[in-house]
Amino acid sequence: MAQRPTLYNYGSINIDHVYRVPHLVKPGETLASHGYQQVLGGKGANQSLAAARAGGRVAHWGQLNEKDRWALELMDSAGVNITGVDLVEVPSGHAVIQVDDQAENAIVLFGGANQSMDDAFVTHRLSDAVAGQDWLLLQNECSLTADIIQKACAQGLSVAFNPAPMTPEVGSMALEELALLFVNRGEGAALVGLDEHEDAERILDALMARYPSTEIVLTLGGEGAYYQKGTQRLFEPACRVTAVDTTAAGDTFIGYFMATRLAGQSDAACLTRATRAAALSVQKEGAHTSIPSAQDVDTP
Ligand code: ATP
Repeated sequence: MAQRPTLYNYGSINIDHVYRVPHLVKPGETLASHGYQQVLGGKGANQSLAAARAGGRVAHWGQLNEKDRWALELMDSAGVNITGVDLVEVPSGHAVIQVDDQAENAIVLFGGANQSMDDAFVTHRLSDAVAGQDWLLLQNECSLTADIIQKACAQGLSVAFNPAPMTPEVGSMALEELALLFVNRGEGAALVGLDEHEDAERILDALMARYPSTEIVLTLGGEGAYYQKGTQRLFEPACRVTAVDTTAAGDTFIGYFMATRLAGQSDAACLTRATRAAALSVQKEGAHTSIPSAQDVDTP
């Protein structure tokens, strides 16, 4: 009997340090914070958690400083297989986030362990994945991303890529071989050299012209999302809800879409389920804490 496919996620794991401040600190100023929280973050970790909460079989590949083992335990308890995560001496990827009384924020991001994965790490992990069965998911927060995409495609794995955060290097990556590309409006427009205020269908047309054999998902925030494969184009409007915090909406959408795809459901079902999950996430504050359970998503 064929094994259930695994979603391998080569992704960032960040420790977010969130400081509540009366105003964003000015140059030269020392400012007392009236609140502090340390939370798990990173697009990679969020997408793994979302796929696991959606019921997917997910294995994360990444690195984290050994002092931050608690973050791994959290992923493990959510059902993510963490045997492909190495504990290292390099500081963990982290973000220092100030949030002021007007909910404005300022963020310093440090790549740390996410940026120190090397060739040996990539080669070793790729040897676990089965061509024609398993999927590899990636975002753009880790070292060697272009390289692993190329190797995984050459190995016959189905590869899904979310080029977030968008960087100039993405333009020169070999993305034609991807099975799936997830972009929001800004990322999609940047990939094809259009303005992000351009009509969404024109952005999608240009993406399809550039990557004709790739399935493309273009998310449009509170408007909804497009899915296209060949000439088949689907649109799912966003659920009408009151959004309180859209952090990780995209990550929730991608995790749910991928888990539903690996469960063998139709493209339309993937789009609908991902849309419902993302709508639930925007109604809650926080990143991973806002990712809903499958029970909440699947209960009509
Ligand atoms: P983020 O970076 O905030 O995680 P993103 O920019 O990658 O998100 P978006 O296109 O903003 O991705 O949102 C992804 C999906 O989340 C949308 O396609 C939609 O289904 C859902 N969504 C986002 N904002 C809202 C909203 N205000 N109301 C309902 N659903 C939303």
